[in-house]
This record gives sequence, structure tokens and C-alpha cells, in this order.
Amino acid sequence: MNGSDGPLNDDALQAPRSAALFAAAGRVMPGGVNSPVRAFGAVGGVPRFIECGTGPFVVDADGRRYVDFVLSWGALALGHAHPAIVDAIRRQAEKGSAFGAPTALETALAERVIAAVPSIEMIRFVSSGTEAVMSALRLARAVTGRTRIVKFAGCYHGHADSLLVQAGSGVATLGLPDSPGVTAAAAGDTLTAPYNDVELVESLFARHGSEIAAVIVEPVAGNMGLVLPRPGFLEALRRISSTHGALLVFDEVMTGFRVAFGGAQETFSVAPDLTCLGKILGGGMPAAAFGGSREYMSRIAPAGPVYQAGTLSGHPIAMAAGLATLDEMAKPGVYARLARAANAMARCAEEEARRAGLPIRAAAIGGMWGFFFTDADVRDYASARTADARRYARAFHALLAEGVYLPPGQFEAMFVSLAHDDATLDMAKVAMRHAFARIG
Ligand code: PMP
Repeated sequence: MNGSDGPLNDDALQAPRSAALFAAAGRVMPGGVNSPVRAFGAVGGVPRFIECGTGPFVVDADGRRYVDFVLSWGALALGHAHPAIVDAIRRQAEKGSAFGAPTALETALAERVIAAVPSIEMIRFVSSGTEAVMSALRLARAVTGRTRIVKFAGCYHGHADSLLVQAGSGVATLGLPDSPGVTAAAAGDTLTAPYNDVELVESLFARHGSEIAAVIVEPVAGNMGLVLPRPGFLEALRRISSTHGALLVFDEVMTGFRVAFGGAQETFSVAPDLTCLGKILGGGMPAAAFGGSREYMSRIAPAGPVYQAGTLSGHPIAMAAGLATLDEMAKPGVYARLARAANAMARCAEEEARRAGLPIRAAAIGGMWGFFFTDADVRDYASARTADARRYARAFHALLAEGVYLPPGQFEAMFVSLAHDDATLDMAKVAMRHAFARIG
């Protein structure tokens, strides 16, 4: 990926400690990382090894501070090391970290989620978004007695075999439409359609309707860059799924508690049959979940026959961090603040790109924002791919030099937290002006 190419060498001068740490990591971990996109493969250069984070900032191993718009890939809604979260984690750690036995914390968080997301009546906690999606689809197949799944090109739902088919995020960035090791049988049950393309979904159902267990979708796509659902798209998925007896699964791992307290399903008033959650749910600790009606969820073991389990599922520290996060996110005005900040950044990107003569399409919703260097109307993965990846890489590095940390790849969403106050956003806006002018 990086090898010893030019950008890596140039960057090594800027970030010598990170460069040394990356070299050491590469000797013991594939690509030097534990999740591909962290390796900066799409933008080149040296991944910054992070020492610490406070509020809206992260500090790297070379002592440089950045305004962080990655926020652990959207998991942090309150910024880094928020006192309420630190306190919740410390208090629980002192009582013991994990027991492999039920705790009251799980019920407390389940009740909070169910109150926030009306389509969820019962919930099962797991440890990652991948597990949540994998388990929700197992349940959908069990409920319907069918095998096939419809997903959308450029949507990422974790790295389960059947979903590594036209996936977004790191897979998109690496240009792998699929992965070695995924069997034809696993991939063969997955039908794909372009995002926002209702007609294609209709035609898939016309041909395979009786075999389709579920339609899974990111109700706001965040893994091909930020792509909003067209008016009527989610409603059409709801209608088509119901007509054909398939379940509609919203993967709200990214959008849950981020675009609204009740997730994208609140924003767009469309109720799925099953919902996957993660990221913010665990307040920066590993927690995810899937949930839905009492009727469907009662089929999960041990209440029912659909097997699903996990040693660290419902981890007490993650539950405590999740509860503390939702306490903060339930306060009045929080989502308006997030939306204002995300929108300000999207508008800033537009303005500064125009000033620098760069083509741009920017968008924001709730606490998510993003931009593409393209003139095309971005509505799906194909149009997202018209964006200029090299220009993004240059913008990324120019911003890094200005003290702003964007996702190291254009097929990713950008985030804000409640810690991104006006002063922080102003710093980022000035940085963007300088950076875009430099690459224009
Ligand atoms: N679904 C969506 C929409 C995601 O954005 C992600 C991760 N970015 C996942 C699933 C997978 O979650 P995890 O990385 O926790 O397995």
C-alpha cells in the first residue's frame, strides 16, 4: 500500500515519531494497523499515531494537535475524554470490568434505547457493528425462511462474508469489490442495487421476491462518503419490503443517536423491522446492538431458537459509557447544535472550494457532514466515484498540516461532536481556507 513511496517519505519528515511507530507496528501487525483505513492507504503518507484526545482535539505522537472530524469513526458524540464518560468508565472499572453474567446496566441501556427508537421493542447487545448486522440478518432469514439479502452498492455493513459485496468504506478505498476468502456461496445470496435506485429494487423483487429475506440499507449512507437518501427512497424500501414479505433492516450503526436521538428513522419517519446500532451507543467503548419488534426479537436464543451469543456482549463498562453518553445526548438542543456545526463545516467546504476554483458537492445531516471534489450530482456509489481521489488526498494532507484531521479516504463521512464549539470550528474554517487555496 504505502511501501516507500514519495508521500510516505515526505510525511516521515513531518511526523518522525509516528513514522517510527508505524514501521514498528508493520513488523507485527498486517499493514501496521488493526483496521485497514487507519493505514492512510488511500491518501498516502504516515498514519498519525494518537497519544491522547481532549474535547474536539487529538494529539499525535509528535506532539501535534488536530481538530478531529473522525471522532473514532463517529463513535464519539461528546468529543474525547468527556468528564461524564471518564467518570462512568472509572466507576464501573472499580466495580469490576466484566462478569459474563447479567447486570442491571444492560437493562438500563436497553430501556433507554427502546424509549429513543420506537421501532425497537426488544434489543440484544453485541460488541461490534459487524456482529449486530450479521445477527440481524440471521434473524431476518429465520423469520422469513428465505435466504437472499438486498444491499446497496457502496453501503458498508461490517465485514461479515455475505456483506463484503460492493461494500463501501475501506473496501471502497482499497478498490476491492469483494475479498479473497469470501466464498461464492456467501456472496451469491447477496443482491445489490445502486443507492437511491427504487426501480432496480422493484425489479430485483419482481424476479426474486419470494427468496428475499431482507433489504439492508444505511438510511443515510456514510461509507461512500456522505450520501443522503432521495425523498421517497426509504419510504419505497418500506413499501416494497412489506409487499413482498421481506424485512427492512436499517443499519444505523453510524446514524443512530447521530442524525437524531431516534436515528435516521426518526428524521425520515420510516420504521424498519430491525435496526442495527453501534458507535455512539457504546460511548467510545465496544458496544453495538440489534433490535426490533417483540415478536421478531423473541426468536433470539434463549427466548427462541435463533442462536446468538458473546462473551463480552453487554460489557458493563461499555453499557456505563453508553448510558452516560445518552444522558448527555438527551438534553434539549443537543441535536440542533450538532446539526449547526456539521452544516457550518459543509458550507465552509463549499465556499472555500469555490473560492479556490475547485468543483465540490457538500452535504450535512445531524452530526454528519462530508464533501466530494466533483461536479456530479452525488446520489449513489457510481456518482461518488466521480470524485477526484487525488485531490482529496492533497486536501487531506494540506489540512493535516493546518491542524485538521479528516478521514484518511474520500469514501468516509465526517463528524462533529458537542465539543466542537464555535472557536474550534473557526480554527477549522481558517485551516480549510488555507488548505484549499494551496491545492486549488
Ligand atoms: N455498519 C455501518 C453503517 C458502519 O458504518 C460500520 C462501521 N463503520 C459497521 C456497520 C461495522 O461496525 P464495526 O466496525 O463496529 O464492526
